[in-house]
Amino acid sequence: MQQLAIFGGTFDPIHWGHLLVAETALHQVSLEKVIWVPSLNPPHKEAALFEHRVEMLQLATKDNPAFTISLVETNRSGTSYAINTLIDLSASYPNTHWYWIVGLDTFQTLPRWYRGHELAQMCDWLIAPRLLGGETITQSKLICKQVEQQLKEQLLTIHWQLLNIPLVGVSSSLIRKLCRDNFLNAKGDRQSIRYLVPEPVRSYITNNNLYSNKSE
Ligand code: ATP
Repeated sequence: MQQLAIFGGTFDPIHWGHLLVAETALHQVSLEKVIWVPSLNPPHKEAALFEHRVEMLQLATKDNPAFTISLVETNRSGTSYAINTLIDLSASYPNTHWYWIVGLDTFQTLPRWYRGHELAQMCDWLIAPRLLGGETITQSKLICKQVEQQLKEQLLTIHWQLLNIPLVGVSSSLIRKLCRDNFLNAKGDRQSIRYLVPEPVRSYITNNNLYSNKSE
């Protein structure tokens, strides 16, 4: 049986944090592939055009043969739900043991996802600790155990492990904010997004004038 992981996200835009998480997952559990799944219509978020986000994903992942991008979410209309992604991908990749890669912040909300209780048991969870509220690895573990406990109270068992990554503070919202600030403050101090995203992604953002005037 092959071992595959789904890495779902808005990727608006993809950044080095995402890439480090996916690469760590690949080796930590000996995955054949990481399947990147950009959300078409993410719940609770407004995002840049799907085509732009996919193009940036392609630029950032094309040199890694174990990374694949799936456009499975274009098969369904309406809001993108994780459980549908897993069901649809299972049809394309039979005989697979599934993992789901997720950041700690997102994992915490799993019990409230659409059909989250079912999804929780359909795959194993690879959780990337994330520097948001200043969590340490020990605190990250505690947070995961709380989620496990919440699900256990409803008689659900889940399998999870923390990914062994250095904590990386980069987020897509930080990149969008820097782009916007740079645009508004063209002559003043500018903080570059260089080294926060892969260079081809940085060029793509500049050439397409992305995130320059979007208010959040
Ligand atoms: P935003 O800042 O707009 O909320 P984001 O940086 O969280 O975006 P997403 O595309 O929403 O990016 O994230 C996809 C997945 O990757 C989520 O599960 C998220 O928690 C995780 N993730 C993103 N950045 C990091 C990071 N620096 N470290 C660990 N996990 C991350």
